[in-house]
Amino acid sequence: MQIYLYNSLTKTIEPFKPLEGNTVRMYSCGPTVYNFAHIGNMRAFLFADLLQRVLRTIGAYNVKWVMNITNIDDKTIRDSAPGSTAWLPEMGSQTDNLMDNLLKFTQYFEKSFLEDISKLGIRLEHFFSMPKATEFIPQMQELIRRIIKNGIAYISEGSVYFNVSEWRKKDTYGKLYKIDFENFRAGARIDADQYEREDANDFALWKYKKPDEPFWEFEVDGIICDGRPGWHIECSTMEKELLGLPFDIHTGGVDLKFPHHEDEIAQSKAGYGVEPNAFWCHNEFLEVEGQKMSKSLGNYFTLRDLLEKGIDPLDIRIAMLSAHYGSTYNFTFDGINSARKARFRIQDYIYDLHQTTNGSFINTDVLNEMKSEVFTSLATDLHTPKALASVFTFINDNPANTLNEEARKSALEFFTKLNNIFDVWKIEPRPVEVVNIPIEITDLAEQRLKAKMSKNFAEADELRQKIIDAGYYIQDSENGYRLGKKW
Ligand code: AMP
Ligand code: ZN
Repeated sequence: MQIYLYNSLTKTIEPFKPLEGNTVRMYSCGPTVYNFAHIGNMRAFLFADLLQRVLRTIGAYNVKWVMNITNIDDKTIRDSAPGSTAWLPEMGSQTDNLMDNLLKFTQYFEKSFLEDISKLGIRLEHFFSMPKATEFIPQMQELIRRIIKNGIAYISEGSVYFNVSEWRKKDTYGKLYKIDFENFRAGARIDADQYEREDANDFALWKYKKPDEPFWEFEVDGIICDGRPGWHIECSTMEKELLGLPFDIHTGGVDLKFPHHEDEIAQSKAGYGVEPNAFWCHNEFLEVEGQKMSKSLGNYFTLRDLLEKGIDPLDIRIAMLSAHYGSTYNFTFDGINSARKARFRIQDYIYDLHQTTNGSFINTDVLNEMKSEVFTSLATDLHTPKALASVFTFINDNPANTLNEEARKSALEFFTKLNNIFDVWKIEPRPVEVVNIPIEITDLAEQRLKAKMSKNFAEADELRQKIIDAGYYIQDSENGYRLGKKW
């Protein structure tokens, strides 16, 4: 099926096709491993996961998915430095070796990141590679040399800067994001990895070592530049090394459009001579209860904070995937609860599809129409809310026990395919649980059986509802009924 994606570069929805063969090469800006990832970060990673699963499942493509780990930047250096309060006892003790400290510190948060995304149903086997920036320093230096050689970068006090005014003579700077050049001062330099649009000055490709900072040796044209890479050059280098240029899709949150992605485009073109990739796909931000998430507002949550509150990570997954990635996602606890209910509703239906009842009626056109609507919605810029709405209309109108054998089989195939994308359901018969059913519940079940036998169906339904409201389910079976606890 043809897939369409909104491309931030052209600002339109375009038909997607890989540049080469049947393999999609996709790069996602990964975490900066200096703390536990927050739920806003998780939205960005879940969006990338959704996209790569739609490409595999609906587009029938192979996907080479790369997500980098930023283990050297301003923040990882700051927080791994001697005496940092961000250093945790679990990391062991700090030593005099600054590089060792940096690696120990970032390995700890890298491991926690991998645990977190695994809980959210992102499968590590789907990644082609998760490179760490510190593993590609010589290649970064090589790219920097190329940019200098092409006359677009210069050295100042051992740091190397990208010359924006020189670059603007050759190409556009501001392809993804309209940059305000009013305050632009040729030759003014910016060292920070993250900066505002108003600071669109020459940015650092490489930063000369400061005291108490880990560094790598680097010499350019006889000038000693020992130091470390800027954040943007890391991604430009790793995507080229692991995917080749140009590749197909680059993802990240909208905040990365500038400066990070804008600078990536400029660096790749100035150094390698090519635009890095064809499609730029950005997820909108996550807010909490309608407000920007921030520690000062007390509405800042890591995934771990939510798990400690007893929230099931799969409910977070389905909640975030149920909203369109291109709209702001408003995180609320009520929203998570509704998403959980919706997840159960579909899970119950899947369990019921495994029951051998003798439903005789199904209009197969309705089933096929629903399938086509769902996959078309997903293929059209990942419209998950539309896709799920079609599923709910279908399951509300067509209870599982009204489907005949053939339709049930077809519906199960459909849910299996859908679950290759959402990955929050079990495609199996309802588990037989060993649970102690309280006497009040078995009483209700017995009364219901009697009501049914005397064809008092309204009363039977009422009793059934009472059982469900108490957190149990009841199913008819050959010798009466089966009771279990709802999960
Ligand atoms: P960072 O570790 O800060 O580089 O962020 C990792 C990813 O999370 C990037 O793609 C960011 O754009 C994304 N991100 C950060 N904050 C949010 C948020 N509140 N909502 C959605 N995505 C976010
Ligand atoms: Zn990046």
